[in-house]
Amino acid sequence: MFGSSRSGKSGRSAMAKKPQIKTCPVCGRPYVEMGRKMCRECYEKEEAMEREVIHYVREHPKASAEEVMEAVGVPASLIRRMIREGHFVDENFKIDYPCARCGRPIIKGKLCQDCLAKLHNGIKRVTKELRIKQVEEESRIKGMFTSSDAGETRVKKGKKIGQK
Ligand SMILES: [Zn+2]
Ligand SMILES: [Zn+2]
Repeated sequence: MFGSSRSGKSGRSAMAKKPQIKTCPVCGRPYVEMGRKMCRECYEKEEAMEREVIHYVREHPKASAEEVMEAVGVPASLIRRMIREGHFVDENFKIDYPCARCGRPIIKGKLCQDCLAKLHNGIKRVTKELRIKQVEEESRIKGMFTSSDAGETRVKKGKKIGQK
């Protein structure tokens, strides 16, 4: 007799993580997902490109994003992603590009701090408005159903929310 605390059926050994097969968004070939967003070949290519970009940026700290793009021969999307991920923040390099909203030059992310703050408030407001709209829509649909189904007038509750 062993003092086994658990009864025989513990499926722990079967919990090994299965590798996921995904399609590489760059080359379109299937690959084993290992925490990267693309296959190994494309990842290595991108890494090499990133190194080249960083190298160029170190030597030409005053280059603009377009200049780097042309000089190294990398797609704008790569540079943008690198900026977004903050690759150039540690470098003494100010690669800037326009804020997606106001056009002010920024070096990280999609929006400048101002727009980010505004957007944050905006999102709150929009989701609130959306929710109200949804409730309105739902009560209307419910109303359609209830009126045709059984003449119940429970819809009034929903209408109260929908009204401004
Ligand atoms: Zn690939
Ligand atoms: Zn902005």
